[in-house]
Amino acid sequence: MRYHLVTLGCAKNTVDSMRLEQALRSARHAPTAAPDQADLLLVNTCGFIDAAKAESLDTIRALDASRRPGQQLFVVGCMTQIAEREVRDAIPTVDATFGVEAWDAVAARVGPADPAYDIPLAGAAPGAPSAYLKISDGCDRPCTFCIIPTIKGRMHSDAAARLVAEARAHAALGVRELVLVAQDSTAYGEDRGERDGLAALLEQLSAAVPVVPWIRLMYAYPGRVTTQLAETMARLPNVLPYLDMPLQHGSDAVLQRMRRPGLRVARRSLEAVRAAMPDVVLRTTFIVGFPGETEAEFEQLLDFVEEQRFDHVGAFTYSPQAGTPAAAAAQDVPQAVKERRYGALMELAQGISHECNRALVGREVEVLVESQAPSQAASGGPVVVGRTFRDAPEVDGLAFLKGTYPAGALVRARVDGALPYDLLCTPLEA
Ligand code: SF4
Repeated sequence: MRYHLVTLGCAKNTVDSMRLEQALRSARHAPTAAPDQADLLLVNTCGFIDAAKAESLDTIRALDASRRPGQQLFVVGCMTQIAEREVRDAIPTVDATFGVEAWDAVAARVGPADPAYDIPLAGAAPGAPSAYLKISDGCDRPCTFCIIPTIKGRMHSDAAARLVAEARAHAALGVRELVLVAQDSTAYGEDRGERDGLAALLEQLSAAVPVVPWIRLMYAYPGRVTTQLAETMARLPNVLPYLDMPLQHGSDAVLQRMRRPGLRVARRSLEAVRAAMPDVVLRTTFIVGFPGETEAEFEQLLDFVEEQRFDHVGAFTYSPQAGTPAAAAAQDVPQAVKERRYGALMELAQGISHECNRALVGREVEVLVESQAPSQAASGGPVVVGRTFRDAPEVDGLAFLKGTYPAGALVRARVDGALPYDLLCTPLEA
């Protein structure tokens, strides 16, 4: 059977889709990029916020409307985990729904494969320079705005041996960057009673795939970034001095209402990371317009961003998630105020990001090429798109590199220009 899979939502959902694909390919079903050539249409949904739910329903509706007789339509993932009824009511013609991590159940429902297909077993698309490695799923934290623990359940870590095997499989396909993701990566191993389980996992991965030059860590939890973890990251040659640590706010009062660690804890983690890796690149995310957020609390967030000067900041305006404690709170901030604050935060963060980029002009960097084919630069001549170690895939900036290089090449280059988020680079090698 040929299947066409559409993945919505975050990087963790991308990894879930990979696992689903592994189950389908193991059963020797074949992917196709063309929906009209598929026997089965699959949508891996996101249900994290209302906008994501709406996008999921729109995607399912569009596929349903254009499918031909005999084509099946399955819906899986976060939205069907928490709102299966909503999906079924909106699109009653869906053939089957599954929750999260139901790869084998989906493959079983699809049934036996057509022996005419000879499908390679694979964990990543050949030629892709980066791959996500999901080290755990679920979350035990009590953040009052977040529906993830309800969707994904308690935190459960993958066995290190399985992750090492997956990392080796990616390396064998030529992957140059492994991006470790989880709901809370720093909780890795806690479900098995391990202390500093993430540091131990990084040691194992670093040793198992020395040919992968970039191992990147995302989604750390403030307070869980211990000195041992920071020093381990600093010591391992292929673990990048880059850390993504969502902090959510810069006011202790708001963090308390979010049931998140306060600023003292956040600063302690940031200090540990900077002490171990003076050139570390820090990414964080914030929510603006959390219920009851006052102008003074928002100003504290801006002050905190000024103080810490994060290299990368992502932000969201708060939107209530049914079933979370925060959704029941009164004092929702008016939408216009949320948007004004979002704009002010992003303007400040963009200025800092631009300063960080300008400081790189004239310096040597390594660019990991991502584009499969060069495009034409405005000034003439080919240019390929990639990233330096400072930028995580999909969420941070890009590096535009003059010349023609294949995807996956690591090219030494000089930074010639700095845009607010992106870099302009000239190769140092012929
Ligand atoms: S740590 Fe992240 S995933 Fe876990 S409850 Fe908080 S926001 Fe949600």
